[in-house]
Amino acid sequence: NRQWILRQRPVGDVSDDDLILETGEMPHADDGEIVVRTRLLSMDPANRAWMNETPSYMDPVPLNGPMLGMALGEVTESRSDRFSVGDTVMGLGSWSEYCKRPAAAFQPVPTLPGLSEQEVFGMLLVVGPTAYFGVHDICAPKPGETLVVSGAAGAVGSIAGQLGKAWGARVVGIAGGADKCRRVTEDYGMDAAIDYKAENVNARLGELCPDGIDCYFDNVGGDILDAVLGRMNDFARVAQCGAISMYNADKPVPGPYNYINIVMRRIKIQGFIVLDHMDRYPEAFEVLAGLRNDGKLHWDFDLDEGLDNALTAFRKLYSGDNTGKMLLKVAD
Ligand code: NDP
Repeated sequence: NRQWILRQRPVGDVSDDDLILETGEMPHADDGEIVVRTRLLSMDPANRAWMNETPSYMDPVPLNGPMLGMALGEVTESRSDRFSVGDTVMGLGSWSEYCKRPAAAFQPVPTLPGLSEQEVFGMLLVVGPTAYFGVHDICAPKPGETLVVSGAAGAVGSIAGQLGKAWGARVVGIAGGADKCRRVTEDYGMDAAIDYKAENVNARLGELCPDGIDCYFDNVGGDILDAVLGRMNDFARVAQCGAISMYNADKPVPGPYNYINIVMRRIKIQGFIVLDHMDRYPEAFEVLAGLRNDGKLHWDFDLDEGLDNALTAFRKLYSGDNTGKMLLKVAD
């Protein structure tokens, strides 16, 4: 059984010595556990935070243990009455050909009309509901309001922008590079795009949001958050979904210069973790699958192949080389 082991905790960018691909014994389930043969792995920016020692919304990945990640696969051994051998399941697995996990870490793959297993796993297990709860519950844009989305050509950001449009907002997306900006407007239907790698974000926000910004769906934090905070309207809302520009920081990151605007403009900033909303997944699924089946939701996958390429695929999230939801095919 080949698996990626967390050998040491990364400092800054993940190095080749931090995670090692090793061959070990085939795992066997203990009471309450299942063994899953991995077919697809989801590469998520948050995997970086799980490598740190600092506990977050979940415990750190133990040193010298398999690297954890969201997985889809088949049950090959079960010592739980939740699953039988042969069931297709998705949940928190590991970067391994086979993983042994508590049965509670997995769930069956729901059947949704018109959607493939890859779409349900890749877009509905984490990405779509994250965009849904952040835009619907926290940004809550009213028709005609201006919503800004960062990471707008990425998996979560592209869905967040399209939900904003579906609910009547004017949406400005921020992404890195001309091609991603073209996709933000042409493929994902946002009203305008800002290339943060080539343009002055603050000046472009001024031009594109002449009436100010009412809502911000933030995936990146850092200087882009700062620029948006400086242009927000009274009672604006920020859904703090992520802060990828800071995940590899090896020293404290300075707070936003425009922090005082949170007071002056009475801005509400709320962080959220999608897993807290699992009881409302059916509501999110209904909206997302409905829009998708009506041809109103575009999504893209970036599918790499082979367990050997896990680290390379993961790093694409940080270089911006991924073009859509980053998945790794481990087996057929
Ligand atoms: P994406 O598909 O958006 O891929 C990551 C993208 O981040 C890259 O393509 C790149 O786009 C951008 N990026 C990388 N480094 C930087 C940087 N320094 N500054 C600005 N942008 C950068 O990934 P996801 O959609 O899976 O995740 C997006 C965000 O959502 C992450 O912050 C993630 O942690 C968060 N998230 C939060 C969840 C929650 O429950 N709160 C759940 C799931 C995700 P570009 O080329 O445009 O730079």
